[in-house]
Amino acid sequence: MSQQLQGHTARKRFGQNFLVSPGVIHKIIDAVAPLAGDTVVEIGPGLGALTGPFLERIDHLHVVEIDRDLIARLRQQFPPERLTIHAGDALAFDFGALKEAGPLKIVGNLPYNISSPMLFHLAKYANQVSEMHFMLQKEVVDRMVAAPGSGDFGRLSVMLQYCYFMERLFIVPPGSFNPAPKVDSAVVRMIPRKVGAGETALDEELFARLVMAAFSQRRKMLRNTLKDFGGEALLEAQGIAPTARAETLAVSDYVNLANVLAGRADKK
Ligand code: SAM
Repeated sequence: MSQQLQGHTARKRFGQNFLVSPGVIHKIIDAVAPLAGDTVVEIGPGLGALTGPFLERIDHLHVVEIDRDLIARLRQQFPPERLTIHAGDALAFDFGALKEAGPLKIVGNLPYNISSPMLFHLAKYANQVSEMHFMLQKEVVDRMVAAPGSGDFGRLSVMLQYCYFMERLFIVPPGSFNPAPKVDSAVVRMIPRKVGAGETALDEELFARLVMAAFSQRRKMLRNTLKDFGGEALLEAQGIAPTARAETLAVSDYVNLANVLAGRADKK
């Protein structure tokens, strides 16, 4: 057992790879730059690698942790007036209930096995958040920030870029963790967009379904994948070549297509 794990056996099912590089830890804290009075929430504090340094900068922190052994350790390590522990699954956690004095700053070295569902869950709270910083697999971050036309551009890119401005800040190698993961990680900054009227999907559920259909078979032409939404006629009416593929459209194209459909009685 490694010394840095402090007697805790890392649980694979909870995606436990603990940060052990002081340099990386401080880079993350500096990137988040929490200020006194911020309402900060950390997802998956684990053994407290980020939690402790955060509490050197701010008086209070919320954390959401699922592992009971780690929760017990955190309770011993930090007094309740400084650390509020929300025991349970972050995927089911109501982040809206934490909106105290101001918008939330959410951070976390996220368990990789739940990263996509976690990002989709958090998107529901985008209007209550000022910024988020997450460590994720580098490959996932590359898909989040990908530009149209790139092979990484997909449903995750469109849905998250609709909600956030995103920036890949730095890459973190496997040796910064214990146990070391097999792949590189990266830290991403996500800032909710204040969408102007023209860029807002009138029916966000329809927008999500359209994007999902477009990328369901990314090698196929949109006139086929979007057949149920009006296919060729819909695309041509918007000046989009029916032979185009999903990865070539911009986020605003998907919003426009969804808004045309939202205005129609025969929408899917
Ligand atoms: N923040 C610590 C660090 O950087 O060393 C731990 C990061 S570790 C990659 C992920 C953490 O998330 C673990 O503490 C794990 O128990 C916790 N976790 C896993 N699944 C979770 C879930 N569904 N809800 C809340 N926490 C979860």
